[in-house]
Amino acid sequence: MQQQQDTSLIWFRNDLRTQDNTVLLSALSTSKQVIGVYFLEPNQFKINKYGFKKMEKYRVKFLLETLNCLQQELHKLNITLLVYQDSAKEQMKHIVETYNVSTIYLQKEWTDEENTSFNDVKDSLNETVIFHDIYDQFLFHPEDVPFHFKDTPKVFTQFRKTLEKKAIVRNLIKIQPQSATYLLKTTTKIPTLRDLGYEDFEVDKRSVFPFLGGENAAFQRLEHYFFETKSLGVYKKTRNGLLGLNYSSKFSPWLANGSISARQIYWNIKEFESQFFSNQSTYWLIFELIWRDFFKYVSLKHANEIFKIDGILKQQYQWSDHQKYVDEWIHGETSDDFVNANMLELKNTGWMSNRGRQNVASFFAKTQKLDWRIGAAYFESMLIDYDVHSNYGNWMYVSGVGNDPRDRVFNVKLQAERYDSNNKYRKQWLQSKLFK
Ligand code: FAD
Repeated sequence: MQQQQDTSLIWFRNDLRTQDNTVLLSALSTSKQVIGVYFLEPNQFKINKYGFKKMEKYRVKFLLETLNCLQQELHKLNITLLVYQDSAKEQMKHIVETYNVSTIYLQKEWTDEENTSFNDVKDSLNETVIFHDIYDQFLFHPEDVPFHFKDTPKVFTQFRKTLEKKAIVRNLIKIQPQSATYLLKTTTKIPTLRDLGYEDFEVDKRSVFPFLGGENAAFQRLEHYFFETKSLGVYKKTRNGLLGLNYSSKFSPWLANGSISARQIYWNIKEFESQFFSNQSTYWLIFELIWRDFFKYVSLKHANEIFKIDGILKQQYQWSDHQKYVDEWIHGETSDDFVNANMLELKNTGWMSNRGRQNVASFFAKTQKLDWRIGAAYFESMLIDYDVHSNYGNWMYVSGVGNDPRDRVFNVKLQAERYDSNNKYRKQWLQSKLFK
């Protein structure tokens, strides 16, 4: 029988859910007491080297809603979530000593900032504290695929076909409530937007992402999109849309901070298929989740290369960083009205469709030849669904330094004619500008 540790700590990062959480299950099955902790690290709110706040108000609001939900859901399981407005490095030693923590469980991350924070914490603690970091953000777990991540295929189609043939998606994990004695008597308060230095704001009425953060809202959305409206059944036809709540799943913000897992979505698609029907659309959502995995494997394989100007392709171009053109793009004042409409949507809501993202990124990097990392950093700041792997992977891809060796430029005019033929989308976002 496995020996029980006394007190374990779960260091939550981008796995902010209580169900289907391998980290949580591992801690619970090996410890007499479990405490959760989340750090709102000052680094997350700093201005980056391009002059953008690392996290703008849209994602901060979503994150705070997520933490409130997580705290409540953990409480139902009789687990306390402590939330600190400080770095893990500063607080961890104190927490470990106060609660006599012997083991720390966390989701394994591998990008630069997460590694630094992890190593800083390790250095600050006594060597007797044991760490268990566990991969839990994939659809296809790295231990279940028939290649080492260092041998991840260069081309998506090869990656997808190999996984579809040779890998399986793990079953879901159910987490049961624990003994009430688990709860700590002391707790911490989750800060507000204002506490973090942001103004309160109303969600723009035109936003196609008016949803709350947290696993409960994620599941409401899934119920609605799959079972109530059966929008999943037409996803392949609608996914390139620009207007409305249901042209695509809108799962990405919850996926990005781990309020929902890719496995939960996958097994609900399977449930939908067994209750109703399977077609190209139900398959296509899985196809898109494999893209998400692909960019995670790409960043595992190439580590910090994904942040470099020549990308993983090590392809050199002449890049400009002309501030005037960057500003025009950000504020929706370029010569192209489709780009402008999309950039205004992002600025006012923290959201942009996939079709929009491809066009504005191509315009930025390929037409204006602006350093793609500036565009990626602006997306990082603004997007509710920012995810390091998907963002940098897609930006490299569109900019010709990633997994697509073809040097392609989007014809933004043609794209607008095709996807916004009645001008409705552009009107919605450009009109408000005329009256400002
Ligand atoms: P759906 O169409 O419903 O797709 C379902 C899920 O599949 C998404 O939630 C997402 O997890 C995954 N997915 C779909 N398309 C992609 C893709 N191209 N790459 C990776 N995963 C995909 N996505 C992010 O989650 N975070 C980012 O920071 C991000 N930055 C991007 C930057 C650029 C320049 C581009 C072109 C794309 C970026 N994407 C990013 C991918 C994609 O645009 C979004 O995942 C998608 O628009 C989210 O909407 P949805 O959840 O309704 O997607």
